[in-house]
Amino acid sequence: MSNSAEGSSLKNIISHCKEYGFIYPSSEIYDGLGAIYDYGPNGSELKNNIKAYWWQAMVRVHDNIVGIDTAIFMHPTTWKASGHGEAFNDPLIDNKDSKKRYRADVLIEEYTAGIQKKIDKEVAKAAKKFGNSFDKEQFVTTNPRVAGYMKKMKEIEDRLGDALGSGDLSAVKTLIEELAIADPVSGSKNWTDVRQFNLMFSTELGSLAEGAEKIYLRPETAQGIFVNYLNVQKTSRMRPPFGIAQIGKAFRNEIIARQFIFRMREFEQMEMQFFVRPGSEREWYQRWKEKRINWHQSLGLGAEHYCFHDHINPAHYANAACDIEFNFPMGFKELEGIHSRTDFDLKAHEKYSGKKLQFFDQASGESYVPYVIETSLGLDRMFLAVISAAYTEEKLDNGSERTVLKIPPPLASYKAAILPLVNKDGLPEKAEHILNEIRFDFSVQYDAKDAIGRRYRRQDAIGTPYCITVDHQTLDDNTVTLRERDSMEQERIPAEQLASTLHEKVDMKYLLKSL
Ligand code: ATP
Repeated sequence: MSNSAEGSSLKNIISHCKEYGFIYPSSEIYDGLGAIYDYGPNGSELKNNIKAYWWQAMVRVHDNIVGIDTAIFMHPTTWKASGHGEAFNDPLIDNKDSKKRYRADVLIEEYTAGIQKKIDKEVAKAAKKFGNSFDKEQFVTTNPRVAGYMKKMKEIEDRLGDALGSGDLSAVKTLIEELAIADPVSGSKNWTDVRQFNLMFSTELGSLAEGAEKIYLRPETAQGIFVNYLNVQKTSRMRPPFGIAQIGKAFRNEIIARQFIFRMREFEQMEMQFFVRPGSEREWYQRWKEKRINWHQSLGLGAEHYCFHDHINPAHYANAACDIEFNFPMGFKELEGIHSRTDFDLKAHEKYSGKKLQFFDQASGESYVPYVIETSLGLDRMFLAVISAAYTEEKLDNGSERTVLKIPPPLASYKAAILPLVNKDGLPEKAEHILNEIRFDFSVQYDAKDAIGRRYRRQDAIGTPYCITVDHQTLDDNTVTLRERDSMEQERIPAEQLASTLHEKVDMKYLLKSL
């Protein structure tokens, strides 16, 4: 058995997603469009369920979080205030021989990831040698070779952080040269200078003849929340601590768009900005770190697939920041960002708009600009996390093989499939009758084509947690078999108990209650 978060290749997952109607390359008949993807019938169901689980965990479960849905186009001054106009750049470098373009910071990070691999190897070797008495902490701090690697890694990270922080692009290039980093494709070290590249897409509002205004497709959903802070606070009668949640599209002209839906040019974000009294932000930051990791782990994809990566040098507007990383098929990478953004955004919007964005606390008689804790999760990355942890190739006892998506049942595209054993003898009519009884409770599929074994495999491949088979006995005693996807075990239950049995197993409310 292989589980993708450990082993299965991204390639297998991409082709499975396409073959089973989860994700297609966009405009595929025209050979696709770089880093843009379309969700198919099964994919959009799964995506909607992920959205629902996030939205309900935020908005329905918390009395002090409300949701909004703001426009993709925003007043251009928004991006001056947020800093995206000036600073939303990636440092780019081209290789003169291969003509390939890279993010300079990513090249350096891949170099340090290589050092980390060497450390991990030394640790694994020592752990094997010393057995039970092995103390990792002690080994890492005292072994001269490992300590040397750690020191080197820290030096590189500090230099990169300083260079990017101060916008010193020539220092980034020097670092690449000193580390003798070569183009991963051609091996050449013939690099151009590092240049900044703005990631925002622009277009024009109004016709050119009228003197059109340049506007941008939003690169994050957060600013729609900030500019509406006062509207929402007043109309929802909220007082800090309170949050505003939003799910929506964001657009970034990513330079290196690789790794399927991990890095897209058009993607969706699920963001929540939590407004707090200045001074209480550290406490709320910790709380949101805990809440968010609990949300992820409630899905049961495997606690070992997540880790926190605390930022040593948070962005200029943040006083603390971390990522929740997930063990994707290409390794541990950012899934969600949690940032303590101070009052940077609201203050900047106050400055650029000339409007006060403050909270008047009647109890103390003082006004203040709230501090903000942000949780920002990429919906598509979450989709990739779910599907890559769920993707399993299994060898069965009878020698056959199956590919099954072990998707958490509340997220699965379909909760059950109704299958008449044969497509005659009144079984289809009976099956359709049962389908019509439960289709208003759950999303269910009906499938009467092919042998029953093939139909089970089809449902396994799209992650349907239960198959309900209607056979000749059903006509006699109104019982059906219920087959569970992961164990493949079957039990016989009265058809009238189907809805209540399924509710217990697939209803999202039990996940929400567990939070
Ligand atoms: P990265 O370092 O991977 O470029 P980021 O730090 O720029 O990501 P944020 O600006 O913090 O990302 O965005 C919040 C979340 O939005 C990320 O954690 C990620 O899940 C998602 N996200 C960002 N960029 C993309 C993208 N190009 N495609 C898909 N999801 C993305």
